[in-house]
Amino acid sequence: MVSAKKIAAKAPPDRIEQVKYLLRSGEGARALPLVCDRWVLLILRDAFLGARRFEDFRRLTGAARGTLADRLTTLIDAGVLYRGSTTDTPTRFEYRLTDKGMGFYPIALALWNWESRWAGEFGLPPRLVHRECGKILRPILVCAHCNRPVDPREMSFEPGPGARIYAAKYNQERRRRDNPDTGSGVDTTMFHSVDILGDRWSALVLTTLFFGLHRYDSIGEAMGIATNILADRLRRLLAAGVIEQRLYQERPPRFEYYLTPKGWDLYPATIAIHDWAATWIPSPAGPGLKLRHKPCGHGWRGRMICDKCGTAVDPHCVGLKPSANWLATRKGRKSRQA
Ligand SMILES: [Zn+2]
Ligand SMILES: [Zn+2]
Repeated sequence: MVSAKKIAAKAPPDRIEQVKYLLRSGEGARALPLVCDRWVLLILRDAFLGARRFEDFRRLTGAARGTLADRLTTLIDAGVLYRGSTTDTPTRFEYRLTDKGMGFYPIALALWNWESRWAGEFGLPPRLVHRECGKILRPILVCAHCNRPVDPREMSFEPGPGARIYAAKYNQERRRRDNPDTGSGVDTTMFHSVDILGDRWSALVLTTLFFGLHRYDSIGEAMGIATNILADRLRRLLAAGVIEQRLYQERPPRFEYYLTPKGWDLYPATIAIHDWAATWIPSPAGPGLKLRHKPCGHGWRGRMICDKCGTAVDPHCVGLKPSANWLATRKGRKSRQA
């Protein structure tokens, strides 16, 4: 048996320092304050499914009115949504996706993919149909240069010119944990991924693991996070089954944290968030995090394709194959089985 000590040594200080910078100045850092929020993710889910009106967003997400109004304003200020009056009733407003909001689609698809594989108690999302080929769609994030599906083992990263210049600051304050509303009319599909990525500390812990840190102290140091918050997020991620503990020292017991296959399966979604930020929130100093695709040697640029016909997937060519239950929820009716 390999001794526990040999499994992984403590990350060298310069490695921790590098991850520290990447967490603060990488493209994801610019997206995180906006994207890694439970309500923002749910609003975007519903916008892609055709919701336009305040009351529909409120019912489908289960958000309180004040919370919803706050997030809609945030998304308008960020240029992701715009507000216009409806054609039939000029005094009523509609919220629609801008191009920047439409650019979020690969992230939504990556999360949809993850839910289709790992959906928890909240249920499977409806199946998607690719209109181009007429087949059930499972979108795949591939390299735009060589078309190979993204694989964490085939990606290398290094700080770009934007690193060390732009540094996002995160509040240490603990955000109130909104208990998910699962009452009548709330669409609970995607809640599992939203529970994980809709919390910015959890998203940062996962990113730190993607960057290859494993020990409590290294993760905490790179994130600059209060120990109670880190312990809480590690507990939540363990409970969600996206990370696991491995004993590396017996007396006293010390653990390292590793992503499970379920956790690694969130990699395409985090890369899609990186890609979105690189395009829509570019740093004036150049990229903070340079990703390279090892098989083709190009700088990483991703695109979503259909697994059946291989063509690019955009919001206009995707239909839904929903269950009767899910449709009833979306339309605000009690389902017959309920
Ligand atoms: Zn490639
Ligand atoms: Zn297709």
